Amino acid sequence: MIKDIDDIMQLVRGNIRSLAPYSTARDEYKGELGAFLDANENPFANGYNRYPDPRQAQLKAQISRIKGMPVENIFVGNGSDEAIDLCMRIFCEPRVDNVVTIAPTYGMYKVSAAINDVEVREVQLGPDFSLPLQALIDACDKNTKLMFLCSPNNPTGNSFPVEQMQWLLEKFGGIVVVDEAYIDFSAQESMSALLGRYCNLIVLQTLSKAYGLAALRLGLAFAHECVMRIFANVKYPYNINLAGMEIAQRLLERGVQGEVDTIIKERGRVAAALAAFRCVERVYPSDANFLLVKVDDAQAIYNALIEQKVIVRDRSRVAGCEGCLRITIGTPEENDLLLQIMSKR
Ligand code: PMP
Repeated sequence: MIKDIDDIMQLVRGNIRSLAPYSTARDEYKGELGAFLDANENPFANGYNRYPDPRQAQLKAQISRIKGMPVENIFVGNGSDEAIDLCMRIFCEPRVDNVVTIAPTYGMYKVSAAINDVEVREVQLGPDFSLPLQALIDACDKNTKLMFLCSPNNPTGNSFPVEQMQWLLEKFGGIVVVDEAYIDFSAQESMSALLGRYCNLIVLQTLSKAYGLAALRLGLAFAHECVMRIFANVKYPYNINLAGMEIAQRLLERGVQGEVDTIIKERGRVAAALAAFRCVERVYPSDANFLLVKVDDAQAIYNALIEQKVIVRDRSRVAGCEGCLRITIGTPEENDLLLQIMSKR
């Protein structure tokens, strides 16, 4: 349905399309040496007295190398939550447009839509958390601008087949946002490999999970360069602070494959051990760094774990996750403690 990037530009809200973006002092003069009397800063150096690079060129270059993605196709935000909010603000006219998403899924799509006064249409996942393909398309109308998918999905843990997401990209006349916060724990390839083919695809990733930088608040979006340019115009000029960028650049150097491999191995070990316990009815397959586990009494097990200072997420009141706990994979020692407590139930 979407032919080219011109069709995507038609989906952008009129006020955003005609926006004259704020131009920072750092946008207007890009040299590095000189007497900077242009930004009303305190001139006495302390490492942080100057505004940071609003384009985050160094950090983006590093992310570009790690992800194999050209810098023009990268947005860096204050967590992926900023990218989710920008999608709403760029494409959705409050009280007119709507977004479609799956249920259960990550809660921020709904909250961000509510904050922006945008209707959310949730379509329940099918048996074994499969994508309800036709129902997703049927939920759309001419005012549906965005479809949020999450793969691997939180809290169910499964990935959706790439061909199914491609089918949606081809059928849906709007933007498909695929949130890949947990992709580094999955054997499935990132949808970002398909950006050249689908200009209506936005892929979200984050440095908060596999990269271990949740406290720094660094989320990523990958999309067509025209879409990324609009993100850059709408974001706060200095959305990423210098301290966060410096620390991220240092910590990204060390690589995380060893940690990710350990988490994936532990995920298999914990899943197998849990499956044998009397209180466990089902351990759902997971492509993420957590397990969704159906137990005989979620509340009681949650409380028993809390008593021993092991905190998991009770998802038992979420439609589709009745009786389930969501358990993040911890260190081997933390996982042993969890297993030891649950084995006694
Ligand atoms: N997407 C999903 C699916 C998540 O589960 C989470 C956090 N739990 C996020 C995005 C948020 O990531 P960030 O820390 O980058 O805002």
